[in-house]
Amino acid sequence: MNTRAYAALAAKSELVPYQFDRREVGAHDVALEIAYAGICHSDIHQVREEWGPAIFPMVPGHEIAGVVTSVGSSVTKFKVGDRIGVGVFVDSCRSCDSCRAGLQQYCVESMTGTYNGYERDGKTVAMGGYSNYFVINEDYAVHIPANLPLDGVAPLLCAGITLYSPIKHWRVGPGMKVAVMGLGGLGHMGVKFAVAMGAEVTVLSHSPQKEKDALAMGAHHFVSTKDPSSLKDHEKEFDVILNTVSAELDINQYLSLLRLNGTLVVIGLPGKPYAVEVGSLLNGRRSIGGSMIGGIPELQEMLDFCGKHNIVSDVEVIKADYINAAYGRTVESDVKYRFVIDASTF
Ligand code: NAP
Ligand code: ZN
Ligand code: ZN
Repeated sequence: MNTRAYAALAAKSELVPYQFDRREVGAHDVALEIAYAGICHSDIHQVREEWGPAIFPMVPGHEIAGVVTSVGSSVTKFKVGDRIGVGVFVDSCRSCDSCRAGLQQYCVESMTGTYNGYERDGKTVAMGGYSNYFVINEDYAVHIPANLPLDGVAPLLCAGITLYSPIKHWRVGPGMKVAVMGLGGLGHMGVKFAVAMGAEVTVLSHSPQKEKDALAMGAHHFVSTKDPSSLKDHEKEFDVILNTVSAELDINQYLSLLRLNGTLVVIGLPGKPYAVEVGSLLNGRRSIGGSMIGGIPELQEMLDFCGKHNIVSDVEVIKADYINAAYGRTVESDVKYRFVIDASTF
């Protein structure tokens, strides 16, 4: 099926209008008309090859919300007209321990990414969500609750699950002090979820002008990190720190904010490694953990949780021809708090 999209034709280049054909709808596939596609900072890292060599032309986009337009003969999970979401992967091996546990993002053969990779046939380049139409195996798509707007839902498919999963894994809840580093697309979802779970939430941000928004999202405290001495007052305070910062920083300053047995969860993925002073770990039996998106069962659980608690992303809806400007603004931390592309403009 002919598909209209935006693509980067080469590394670091601007995105331009692009057309390609998606596969026919197979027996286990569903087709969807995309309504909105979110812009994740991971899209920018990959277009700019900040994570290593990438595949071009690249149609980025792994925060996809739309409506089912047709279903294959064996499909049982969806019907035409259903509201449907697609996230960061479209397939996996289905047989390893991770896949069987519903943790497809940790598939031992690697998940099949929604873009910038090959599908499981090893030769078809996966094309992502900056497009008007999508085809996916029904097992790797999720239902969107009826009460939530599709534009605010699209970012939940990556930014949302990426914070929900560690918040559940590290059992964030009442009585815990949690810090969220970086109030961007991921970070603002972290604030909303940690608050909904009952934790006391502090935002650590290098953008002082975001304080009002952070508090409106439910955060209890806001610390501007522009002045590094501001962190001194918060040493040994937090049980969990969720680090969503996309840029390099001195991680040791933040490790010192963990209380006894605390964990700093690395979620942001800058291109260069962190230099960790082991002394900061020994002192206070601290841990550094990592977390990557979430599996299909947890993705559905998160969306259902959002439906129940009326949680969506704060979005700026844009037309396709604004994507390059939106990339620039995202890198400058100037987004409130996720750009979402209206897919009717592709
Ligand atoms: P984003 O919207 O650009 O947010 C990143 C935030 O980091 C910014 O809003 C800013 O918050 C802070 N920041 C940026 N530059 C900074 C700097 N130089 N110093 C200090 N703070 C800075 O990006 P995102 O889409 O949320 O993604 C964040 C990171 O997570 C990216 O690296 C992305 O690739 C990664 N990611 C990981 C996963 C996973 O599965 N683990 C999934 C998706 C994305 P303040 O203005 O509040 O300081
Ligand atoms: Zn993402
Ligand atoms: Zn697997």
